Amino acid sequence: MFESLSDRLSGVFDKLTKQGALSDDDVKTALREVRVALLEADVSLPVARDFVAAVQAKATGQAVTKSITPGQQVIKIVHDELERVLTGDTDPGALKIDNPPAPILMVGLQGSGKTTTTAKLAKRLKEREGKRVLMASLDTNRPAAMEQLAILGAQIGVDTLPIVKGETPVQIAKRAKTAASLGGYDVYMLDTAGRLHIDAELIAQAAAVRDVANPRETLLVVDGLTGQDAVNVAQEFDAKIGVTGVVLTRMDGDGRGGAALSMRAITGKPIRFVGLGEKMDAIETFEPQRIAGRILGMGDIVALVEKAQATIEAEQAEKMMKRFQQGRFNMNDLKMQLDQMLKMGGMQGMMGMIPGMGKMKGQMDAAGIDDSILRRQIALINSMTKKERANPDLLAASRKKRIAAGAGLEVSELNKLVKQHRQMADMMKKMGKGGMLKNAMKQMM
Ligand code: GDP
Repeated sequence: MFESLSDRLSGVFDKLTKQGALSDDDVKTALREVRVALLEADVSLPVARDFVAAVQAKATGQAVTKSITPGQQVIKIVHDELERVLTGDTDPGALKIDNPPAPILMVGLQGSGKTTTTAKLAKRLKEREGKRVLMASLDTNRPAAMEQLAILGAQIGVDTLPIVKGETPVQIAKRAKTAASLGGYDVYMLDTAGRLHIDAELIAQAAAVRDVANPRETLLVVDGLTGQDAVNVAQEFDAKIGVTGVVLTRMDGDGRGGAALSMRAITGKPIRFVGLGEKMDAIETFEPQRIAGRILGMGDIVALVEKAQATIEAEQAEKMMKRFQQGRFNMNDLKMQLDQMLKMGGMQGMMGMIPGMGKMKGQMDAAGIDDSILRRQIALINSMTKKERANPDLLAASRKKRIAAGAGLEVSELNKLVKQHRQMADMMKKMGKGGMLKNAMKQMM
């Protein structure tokens, strides 16, 4: 998977890391080559363009650390960007199969690997999650396809719905549902008919089956070797039938891999699994981190940069702590904390994370304490001048009036904020003397 793209990129980056200092032009040249490499891998043009622009923007704004070279830094940025482009679901392998029997609809063109993938996923559900799975082929046009699913089922020890001649796909879907309910199955998988091209009949049939089955997941199987075409097929299927995820097959081949990189950006649908061969175990969940690593093949450098960045963060935290110990906890620091709280899901989210705080959450709701307080406090700090933020002692009555008005709030609310700030600053100072601050900060990181 991704060999040629990977080779191309490592060529670009080898050159980059050999140089000590990098000029803007060096980075530009390298990124131009990255762009060509992406296009050659059949990544769609807008995706390749956005990719390079994002790397460029981050590379120019980055402070370079002593311990790493600019080239290494750029590689790390490319890696992170790859991961971002590839990222779809947080847990791509987790199929929604609660409420048994859960229907999974498999759609795709003929020859994409749909039947093989159906069996591979059934085996996975059986072995990894202990699920009882029933598979049914709806390909009434091709008796051989129905036979194929039955053979695979026997091979992996998963039941298939008995074949009844003369039924329509919708009738088979209904029978599968009944059989799955009566038979106590957790999941039933519907392997719909494929065709060589998307046509009205194919779509109408898949839509009719979808309407009777009401699937929890609709997985589109596409051939990864077809590159950009795979993305077009996905876009069309999603528009007409609605899919919950994509399975890219034949990623074991020497395909150019571009489909994987464009899929999410163009269709908005996550790649959930990749097929890596004809054997029944040749399927993996789509893990962006691992795949980004594989494409770039520069794990050592990425780890090095991560370590260096962690060191910088630790140094910054140390500096911040020293200031707090001296009682220099200003409004910027408070704002940073408030921002952090919002990012962590606000007060409610933070309460939810502390065991036993569930009840308290209800009380906070009742008392009307919510994130709007955090937001108002941030607005008040934003309304202060730079000097006032750095030195809250400046906040005399006239200034307070201006700040509150600027934030569209009452002075009383600002007074509360100032009081809270003072209490926190005092506490930090006290904790700093006993070394408690250091421990508290260590826990926070
Ligand atoms: P369908 O027409 O979409 O149901 O396609 P099939 O499941 O019958 O697969 C067509 C062919 O592709 C079969 O020979 C499969 O063994 C093969 N195939 C399916 N998935 C993969 C894969 O991930 N890698 C490789 N190399 N072959 C695959």
